[in-house]
Amino acid sequence: STETDTDVDLDAEARRIDREHVFHSWSAQAHLDLPVIAGGQGTTVWDHAGNRMLDFASQLVNVNIGHQHPAVVKAIQEQAAQLATIGPATSNLTRGRAAEKILAKAPEGFEKVFFTNGGADAVENAIRMARLHTGRDTVLSTYRSYHGNTGAAIVATGDWRRMPNQYARGHVHFFGPYLYRSEFWATTPEEESERALHHLERVIQSEGPQTIAALLLESVPGTAGILVPPPGYLAGVRALADTYDLVLILDEVMAGFGRTGRWFAFQGYDVVPDLITFAKGVNSGYVPVGGVIMSEPIAKTFDERVFPGGLTYSGHPLAAASIIGALDAMESEGIVDNARRVGAEAIGPGLKELQARHPLIGETRGEGVFWAMELVRDRETREPVGVDVIGRLKKELVARGLIPFTAENRIHVVPPCVVTPEEVAQAMSIYDEALGVVEADAL
Ligand code: PLP
Repeated sequence: STETDTDVDLDAEARRIDREHVFHSWSAQAHLDLPVIAGGQGTTVWDHAGNRMLDFASQLVNVNIGHQHPAVVKAIQEQAAQLATIGPATSNLTRGRAAEKILAKAPEGFEKVFFTNGGADAVENAIRMARLHTGRDTVLSTYRSYHGNTGAAIVATGDWRRMPNQYARGHVHFFGPYLYRSEFWATTPEEESERALHHLERVIQSEGPQTIAALLLESVPGTAGILVPPPGYLAGVRALADTYDLVLILDEVMAGFGRTGRWFAFQGYDVVPDLITFAKGVNSGYVPVGGVIMSEPIAKTFDERVFPGGLTYSGHPLAAASIIGALDAMESEGIVDNARRVGAEAIGPGLKELQARHPLIGETRGEGVFWAMELVRDRETREPVGVDVIGRLKKELVARGLIPFTAENRIHVVPPCVVTPEEVAQAMSIYDEALGVVEADAL
């Protein structure tokens, strides 16, 4: 008889073929042991044998609407049946409507959407727009940031991933606020905010405002630790951008489209940027897409002047259709509000409870479905746990059916925006067990 899918162990086959032929990103290849995912629904994914896992990483913090949302799948299918691809230099109803939907979520004064293939190239193009708009070169961004893994985006990135400056010129880093590990010896959020703003102003003055094109910040730094900004900080950054006539780019690639319980993270912080970068949550990654939302003055710069940017797949119709499907469903099903509510009522309190039970947890912070547990060897000294502890925890979590997101000494609790309080409770008991197992050796 011929071999069918049911005769072979597809999970073993997926592992074998992956190890033999797929070269993975951000990894040494030899010891990878990656979970097999064959399907999913909402917050849950499963392998070929039907073993279920709770996706508390939302893959790469992008599947905001959950896996296999039927409205998004249908929008892609219908668009594919009608017109699967077109070049960027065309007028297309689906693309236009996707832009219109995105602009409807942005504050007043935003006029156009420039589509890209993902987050990094959104950042590249926002930087280019700011440079051409101002005629200046330097971009200031924070040490604790991640902006993507391409030319200027990885140089603007401030965390351990950043590439040496030889790949792109005109980048300077500064310290953003992070009270738990304050660079400014601050003891309150207000003090941290004030001192971080003073530091930023000194950097602007020292570099020379006449050389600076833009301030580039994640509204809420994500990969670098979910560093919820203290009171007045982002509004203060806006004021500095105004004083020194700099373009303010807020990177909403991870924080945008529901993750914080708002459409844009910055909408909680009394600030309006000049350029907004987005990707991930805009369509939950069902088709790769990103972009830059442009305020009117910057868009106008290019009315009579060529903007030298664009890619073969900019504004791809399958991506555009998936954006419309995703944003419609998020609106009609109250998905952004669910993220806010479940964050405030289940994730936040659940993490506080874990912190009370586990000395390994030094701090928990976040909002919406965007939370971090920072793990320390000692609460007094705040010495971070090593990669060994995080590695063991990761194994214990996966073994109990939870896909975690880890970074440095942290576990980020970042489920889809559709997560239910019951799923959060289930996850909390898995975190609790795994922390208990690892803690015995780690402290
Ligand atoms: N900007 C931020 C804030 C991000 O978190 C990321 C990815 O995690 C990026 C940019 C890069 O996006 P992409 O991986 O889609 O290129």
